[in-house]
Amino acid sequence: MSTLESPIDLFGAGPALSPRDPLAVLRDVFGHRSFRGQQDQVVRHLVDGGDAVVLFPTGAGKSMCYQIPAICRPGVGIVISPLIALMRDQVEALRQAGVAAAALNSSLNAEESAEVRRQLRNGELDLLYVAPERVATPGFANMLSGIDIALFAIDEAHCVSQWGHDFRPEYRELSKLTELFPGVPRIALTATADPTTREDIIERLGLEAAEVFTTSFDRPNISYSIVERDKARDQLLAFLAAHKGSSGIVYCLSRAKVEDTAEWLSAKGIPALPYHAGMSAERRNANQDAFLREDNICMVATVAFGMGIDKPDVRYVAHMDLPASIEAYYQETGRAGRDGQPADAWMSYGMADVVQRRRMIDEGNAPDEVKRLEHGKLNALLGVCETAECRRKAILNHFGETYPGNCGNCDTCRSPVETWDGTEAAIKALAAIYRTGMRFGAAHIIDVLMGKSTEKVERFGHHNQKVFGAGADLDAKVWQSVLRQLTASGLIVVDHANHGALTLGEGAHAVFKHERQVILRKDRPKKTVEVRRSLERAASIPPHALPLFEALREARTRIAKQQGVPPYVIFHDATLRAMAMAVPRHPHDMLNLPGVGQAKLDRYGEAFLAVVAEVAA
Ligand code: ZN
Repeated sequence: MSTLESPIDLFGAGPALSPRDPLAVLRDVFGHRSFRGQQDQVVRHLVDGGDAVVLFPTGAGKSMCYQIPAICRPGVGIVISPLIALMRDQVEALRQAGVAAAALNSSLNAEESAEVRRQLRNGELDLLYVAPERVATPGFANMLSGIDIALFAIDEAHCVSQWGHDFRPEYRELSKLTELFPGVPRIALTATADPTTREDIIERLGLEAAEVFTTSFDRPNISYSIVERDKARDQLLAFLAAHKGSSGIVYCLSRAKVEDTAEWLSAKGIPALPYHAGMSAERRNANQDAFLREDNICMVATVAFGMGIDKPDVRYVAHMDLPASIEAYYQETGRAGRDGQPADAWMSYGMADVVQRRRMIDEGNAPDEVKRLEHGKLNALLGVCETAECRRKAILNHFGETYPGNCGNCDTCRSPVETWDGTEAAIKALAAIYRTGMRFGAAHIIDVLMGKSTEKVERFGHHNQKVFGAGADLDAKVWQSVLRQLTASGLIVVDHANHGALTLGEGAHAVFKHERQVILRKDRPKKTVEVRRSLERAASIPPHALPLFEALREARTRIAKQQGVPPYVIFHDATLRAMAMAVPRHPHDMLNLPGVGQAKLDRYGEAFLAVVAEVAA
């Protein structure tokens, strides 16, 4: 590591550490006193020359696992990263911390590229980020020949697997690294929790002999809420009201809905921008840049957005439509709260989602066995939506993890859901569907159950059916809930070929014969999870520290704008929060804060101490 001079002197007493000791690097460069979780083991394993597969959830500090060994080991660490935006931000953050880092990708001009190559040849770099397609070229081996390589890090390693969501064929070429550079340690990292994808990664990258480091995939700082859809936009607006001034993502299924929702939110005074694959690259990049560089943008997007977005201070992820699977839901919501600070995952969910997702699978071109698999994955997610138990427990259970007790940080834990024996209601609903010929949608079935004499009811003579009015004891909202839950559980099947008519699914017969009990959840009256959130946020910063926190945030925004970098590259929220509480008066006080290393102190210490002196006078 060439950029730090005798960091040990800065800390006075303490064990004498060699400059390349991982703990010293962690402290002096990244400003942290201790490793988190298994970071320590991974780092030491790599420093000693071992190969590793790291399966940590987002926010567990995966990048430290290769950045620190790359700094500690002689030579340059080569990081394979799938996205230019991701490389750019990581390189910027490293440079800010005083690390000699660079990226080689298609966004550089010839001159810039030549400069990076020169630095590489002269051994001036600690870390070099490259795109996977570069590795496959003959020029890559040439470029690295005769150069000391500390390690290869394969970031977002799930891109190698076609089971993952982000399959990148170029990643398959990375298996050649062993032949090309024998003896150089390799580390593959991913936040994917799906066991099939994990096994695929190890096999595809030839990492069978590597040590596998894995940890719980729980993201305790993310609060999960799934609300029954009522008026989706109003529900969204109420949710966003509690997140004023923070960054977040709103996912929609279609491009049209993305555009409409972004426009509608903007009209409501929320700084919202659209992002989807149908936009021009120019507009897409501009919106993505704004999202990364501002700290209050609501990005309304299809799932085309988010992969490799390393923004740590995304405070919420909202879903206006049901994702395809628990894996997708986990990955998309996982983009919130990478910095470990409280974040919200919120979804509005209704029967239309079930119908739409089923149709997407049925009308797709996949072979039947794949369709069966996709239906199975959808069912698992519907189970999470309809559960009356802890959402976190249900999600982790799907990944083969047992969660002890209830989390206390999801909507079902915070306001427990009542269940009721819905067997009789189910029999009535199924009978209404059957007696009317399995040709009608939910609205008509509910009219029949409630005994409403509509034009359609009269035209088909459904008022003469025995089941007509048999469900008048429950209101329409409850019937909607019953039909939704029966559809989610497969007792009702929607016939897409017949305009979404409800038909009977497998198991309906057993319900009719009282051989199967149907337990349903009671939908909750509209409640404001949102209010709780703002209270919680207020609690995480004591009121007396709030003015200083806000002033520090403003200073950070100003400095970030001057430098043209995202604010979090200067300091994370957690650092500013700690600063607002600790009220540092001297440079050495600053070094005690998490995320303040020597280079950051040199760069920003004075500016932030001045803010503290002014506001906390
Ligand atoms: Zn819970």
